[in-house]
Amino acid sequence: MTFEGGEGAGKSTQVRRLGERLQALGIEVVTTREPGGSPGAEIVRHLLLSGAAKPLGPLAEAALFAAARADHLDVTIRPALERGAWVISDRFADSTRVYQGAVGDVDARLIAKLEAVTVGPTRPDLTIILDIPAEEGLTRAAARSGGPADRFESEGLSFHRRLREAFRELAEREPERCVLVNGRQDAEAVAEAVWQAVSARLPL
Ligand code: C5P
Repeated sequence: MTFEGGEGAGKSTQVRRLGERLQALGIEVVTTREPGGSPGAEIVRHLLLSGAAKPLGPLAEAALFAAARADHLDVTIRPALERGAWVISDRFADSTRVYQGAVGDVDARLIAKLEAVTVGPTRPDLTIILDIPAEEGLTRAAARSGGPADRFESEGLSFHRRLREAFRELAEREPERCVLVNGRQDAEAVAEAVWQAVSARLPL
């Protein structure tokens, strides 16, 4: 399963909390993140977030996110799923649909092709989308890091508002997979809402 949402929505906290709760039930859990999640993909993460890959055009950048995802799947996700572990990823292919597709400049059909090649049938069975107003998320993200931590966080407010809308639209389009959770609540309440979604939809 995956967590998605804009900056400062609380994804990493909720990934950790859910992982711990599932582990307490005796389930093997692998928590991971994108971009990154394997040694090779972490190198690509550094290129993307440091701004070193900034000279690339939008399609080449999307392809780089997809390349990192292909390695993450091969090295980390598929082996874990094959041995019966639960995988919880902080961001996955929906982030590319939203950041590089809906809000970026890459045609949705090209994003879908990249996704078909890299992700194939290994799709999340549940996606939690943490929803928070752009202003609040950015304030939280800046408080966490003492200022914009990477080049995507430093985009303007309208970019982050469009991101939020795109994630909300995704949740509406795929209600059988996606659950929108109000990320403005305190972490405890968000964790409870996440737990309700997980226990209602996945075999525990
Ligand atoms: O979730 P986290 O803040 O660690 O994500 C790292 C950064 O990568 C974020 O600033 C996010 O905006 C950006 N990102 C992106 N496109 C993706 C995935 C992440 O621009 N497909």
